[in-house]
Amino acid sequence: MVLSAIPSEAEAKQAIVEGIEKLRLTEDAATVPVYGSHYASQDLPKYEIPDEAMPREIAYRMIRDELTLDGTPTLNLASFVTTYMEDEAEKLMTMCLPKNFIDYEEYPVSADIQNRCVCMIARLFNISYRSGRQPVGTSTVGSSEAIMLAVLAMKKRWQIKMREAGKDASTPNMIMSASVQVCWEKAARYFDVEERFVNCTAERYVIDPEQAVDLVDENTIGICTILGSTYTGEYEDIKGINDILEEKNLDVPIHVDAASGGFVTPFVNPDLVWDFRLSKVVSINVSGHKYGLVYPGVGWCVWKDPEYLPKDLIFNINYLGADQASFTLNFSRGASQIIGQYYQLIRLGKVGYRSIMLNITRIADYLSAALQALGFLIMSKGGGQGLPLVAFRLDMDQEYEFDEYAVAHQLRERGWIVPAYTSPPTASIKMMRIVVREDFSRSRCDALIADMKFTLETLKTMDAKRIRMHKEHIKHLNNTNKQSRRSSTWSITENHSLQGKHGKTHGVC
Ligand SMILES: *Cc1c(COP(=O)(O)O)cnc(C)c1O
Repeated sequence: MVLSAIPSEAEAKQAIVEGIEKLRLTEDAATVPVYGSHYASQDLPKYEIPDEAMPREIAYRMIRDELTLDGTPTLNLASFVTTYMEDEAEKLMTMCLPKNFIDYEEYPVSADIQNRCVCMIARLFNISYRSGRQPVGTSTVGSSEAIMLAVLAMKKRWQIKMREAGKDASTPNMIMSASVQVCWEKAARYFDVEERFVNCTAERYVIDPEQAVDLVDENTIGICTILGSTYTGEYEDIKGINDILEEKNLDVPIHVDAASGGFVTPFVNPDLVWDFRLSKVVSINVSGHKYGLVYPGVGWCVWKDPEYLPKDLIFNINYLGADQASFTLNFSRGASQIIGQYYQLIRLGKVGYRSIMLNITRIADYLSAALQALGFLIMSKGGGQGLPLVAFRLDMDQEYEFDEYAVAHQLRERGWIVPAYTSPPTASIKMMRIVVREDFSRSRCDALIADMKFTLETLKTMDAKRIRMHKEHIKHLNNTNKQSRRSSTWSITENHSLQGKHGKTHGVC
């Protein structure tokens, strides 16, 4: 959620251009066209709920107009989040908008559909049954909530273990790569768990298994591993960590953050062993709204045994007469996304998911080859060895006058949203990333390649002075966007996160 700033009365009244007279307001006739109404000649209400109502078609049209200044989701190559679903899925989801998912008693079928999804996803992750063992799972709003829950479960289990042993349980820590998604830093901060980072290097953008296990001590609640780094898409060596833990006989659980990879790897790379087949993997999260192919927000978390989900954390809510166990950070939420997930699972089947994931893997490889031919250095792994994305950067040996941010800006002027980032410490290098989603077809890919070629040609013809002016222009644009009345969002300078300490960009996902 973006934190919104609340301006003062004086700021709210300030005109964008000084000296414009307020237009005289007149009453509108019932038959007045939208753009002939007095609403069209005024700014939309922004700071105070208006005293009067407005006709619905006018409110609808005005907000629609306002939204045209947003980017186009299908051209947003920065995001993993689903931008296309079939009409039938949309119809089902719209139908479920009024259903509150937590109201299990009234909507038992929706609750049951969540259970079906959890079972299917747990099996996709190769859950196995032992007698007396009951794997459990839940839907969430996204991987972030799922990760919060998983961290709470690991912390609680560790506290119980320490207290039983008569030991101090006040300084938990958790081990992770410096390239974790920001939600891990959030979880650590919100739940008072010390973060122990394994830093990345110029050659290695993921966790190093040896270094990770070296950080373990008796206060370690768990190790986070990522199936598909947000930055380069690379899969972390989860089996490597598991093997070392087994070899050293360490009782430390692994949580797999499969936010992006959970619905890709099982179809593209079924032989990669990363999931519940590994003895130390106790919980896994996945974002339904990334390669699970559902609109935001839905995520999933599965635990291989209730042993890893301490009972203290589970609430039996008696809602309108029925007892239901629940583990969630929220109470009310819509049922639509869960229904959308079920639609995708049964509509696509394994064959459908596989064909989509293989197609986008091929498109990512094709795009990667094209970018390489244009002179970029490719940082992501192709051939299904990582997520279907291309991470790349300029070849510094070429001594370009421009940088990745300039490339991003030029592409943005053509409508493409391709972000430039700084990578996690300690190797602070600039990079760009294109996420290939289901709706990024080969022909759209070709259009992007053509625009990228044009962008490079344009930038190469600019001399140092023009590049400098161009940079100033981008900076000015960013600043005025921040100051403009269009975006009164609030921001502070972080000093608690990797971003504050090392300048890593918290990438969009
Ligand atoms: C996207 C992402 C998250 C956060 O997931 P949301 O579903 O957006 O909350 C966490 N970890 C990784 C690796 C991700 O890619």
